[in-house]
Formats: sequence, structure tokens, C-alpha cells
Amino acid sequence: MKYKETPSQAADYLRQAVPLMVRNRIPPNPLNYALWYAYVSNQLPELNVALDSTLKTYGTCPNLLSEQLFRKHLVSDDAKDTEEIHNGLVNLVNTLHEQASVAWEQTDSYSAVLRESLEALTDFNLTDTDALPLESIIRTLSLKTEAINDATRLFQQQIDAAQSEIAALKQELHQTRQDASVDVLTDLFNRRVFDTELEQLMQLGSLQELSLILLDVDHFKRFNDTYGHLMGDKVLQYVGRILKDECAEPLIPVRFGGEEFAVIAPGLGKDATKAIAERLRKRIEAIRIRQKSSGSVISSITASFGITCLRSNDDHSTLIERADQALYQAKLQGRNRVCSDSDGQ
Ligand code: GH3
Ligand code: MG
Ligand code: MG
Repeated sequence: MKYKETPSQAADYLRQAVPLMVRNRIPPNPLNYALWYAYVSNQLPELNVALDSTLKTYGTCPNLLSEQLFRKHLVSDDAKDTEEIHNGLVNLVNTLHEQASVAWEQTDSYSAVLRESLEALTDFNLTDTDALPLESIIRTLSLKTEAINDATRLFQQQIDAAQSEIAALKQELHQTRQDASVDVLTDLFNRRVFDTELEQLMQLGSLQELSLILLDVDHFKRFNDTYGHLMGDKVLQYVGRILKDECAEPLIPVRFGGEEFAVIAPGLGKDATKAIAERLRKRIEAIRIRQKSSGSVISSITASFGITCLRSNDDHSTLIERADQALYQAKLQGRNRVCSDSDGQ
């Protein structure tokens, strides 16, 4: 999002945002200021709809959802731009590096030719008056060429330094994303976020309902053994994409670990949660991957689901344990199905 307002307009938006944040118990940190500033300026209607529905569900906006909304509505374009600029820069430096190498080779050989010519001229039997001006011109040219050589060498050193800096930045970017909260393979939030967020949501007194979906890809070891680990990674990426597609706020999809995923469904009861799990199950079942080597299409990807709803005496681990039991039932009953903890009771 680009900010184009005048200082007095901006101050006015902030004056409107602050009481809204206080009323809705939003922690006053820079991320939330940006979010609620955007809200009152009404420039991103989709963000306003999302924030309105989050407030309706929770009576506030939990930290993780604020972060999700911030990433999605306020920084995603900028992040994409940064990535594109970064890639452009890498290409530019690579091209410059190649050009500098070529230029250096050329000046090197130019210098050698001049040196040889100078030697030839010195040996040549000319009268002093004819030889000196010619010799001095060529000597000057040779000196200039040396200077060009030095400059080019320096240029190349600078480019080498820039290249290492870019490589270090790239590594840092990768590390930061990994350290923070996002799983690198699937781009979903990771288990650490799941734990803190579930804990926080369970402590929110205002939440009427909360459900949990656990999802485990079926026979994934066999899949890896048959088609290879890289193809297995591709499947996990597909599953991640489906989860992102189907689980808009306030749902929180995460990679739980390995081939297991989870969806926290705040404000949702059993039927609505079952419907979401069923939709996910059908979309995973419909995944088709063409195997490049053989040209054949793999269509055997399925997943099993366990769901449960929060009970009054639950803690973090009893809730997960029940969803896990339901998932186990889904596996026992033949996989590629959704079971809830109360099924069959
Ligand atoms: P089930 O239907 O009972 O869940 O069988 P399963 O084979 O899926 O379960 P199991 O726990 O025996 O195996 C899980 C497999 O998931 C083994 C492991 O190599 C694979 N796996 C875990 N994480 C990754 C990953 O990041 N990439 C790939 N390609 N495979 C992974
Ligand atoms: Mg598993
Ligand atoms: Mg599995």
C-alpha cells in the first residue's frame, strides 16, 4: 500500500484509528497502527471486510490474524516488488561481472600488443627525430592502458564484493523467514505459531466456539519410496496451496510437521468445520501430477482428517489429543475420510 495523504489527513486518520484500537483491545504496536490506519482510510475494502468479520468473531483481532492481514493486504505487493528488484539486481550484477571479465581480457591483450609494438619500434632502425615522438605516444598509450587495467580490476573486485553481499543477504532472508513463523516448503505458518496462537485463542474469554482439524497425507512414505522425495515435496506444496486457498481468515492453516497439517477454526462449530475438512479432502483427492520422466499422471494422493471442538475443561494438549484420536480413526476406517471425535459415540 502506498501512502499519498497530506500530513493533516494522515494525522486525522491516526486520530480516528487510536480510539478504535483502544475500544477493540488492539495492542498499540507499529503493525497494528498500520493496519488500523489503513482501516480508517478505507483504501482497501477487502481489508476492512476481513477486519470487520474478525472483530465480529473475536471481539478483538488476535495477534496472528493481525500479522496475517498485515502481510496479505499491506506488504504483499511491496514484498513481491522487493523480490523482483532483488532478482533484477542479481541479474544485473551477474551481467556486469561477465562484461568486466571480457573487458579485462580485451584490455590485457591490447596492452600486450602495445608492449610488443613498443619493443619493435625501439629496435627499429629509425633516426632519433622520427623515433622519439612515435615512441613517446606509444609509451603514453601503454601507460593509459595500464591505468584502464587497474580500473577494470578494481571494478571487478567491487562487483565480486557486491555479489558476496547479495549472497549473504539472500541467506539472511531465507534464515529470517525460517526463524520467524513461516514454513519454507509450503509457505504456511509453522508448528511454533500454531502452539502460541492456539494458546492465545483458548485464553480469549470471548470466543464462543473453536474447532481443530488435523490432516495427515495417506501412505506418504510409500509415495516417497515410489516417486521420490522431490515429488513428495511437490505434493506437500500442493497441499499447502490448497489449505491457503480454502482457509481464509479467520481460519489458520499451518504445517504441523512432516506430512501433517492443521487448521485452527475459531468461531466455527462441528458442522461448519466438517464441511471445510470435506472440501479439503476432495481437493487433495483431485490432485494430479504429471511425472516428467514417464509422462504418466499420478492420481493417488489422499489425506485423512480428524476434527474436534473445544470443550470447557480443555487445555492445549487435550484438544490436540482428541483431534489426533479422530485422525487415527479415519486411518483405521480406510483413510481418505473425515472423522470427528464424537463420530460413533
Ligand atoms: P499413514 O497413511 O499411516 O499416515 O502412512 P504414512 O506413510 O503417511 O506415514 P508414516 O508416518 O509412516 O510416514 C510419513 C512419511 O512422510 C515419512 C517421511 O519420509 C515423509 N515426510 C515427512 N516430511 C516430509 C517432507 O518434508 N518431504 C517429503 N518428501 N516427505 C516427508
Ligand atoms: Mg504422519
Ligand atoms: Mg501419513
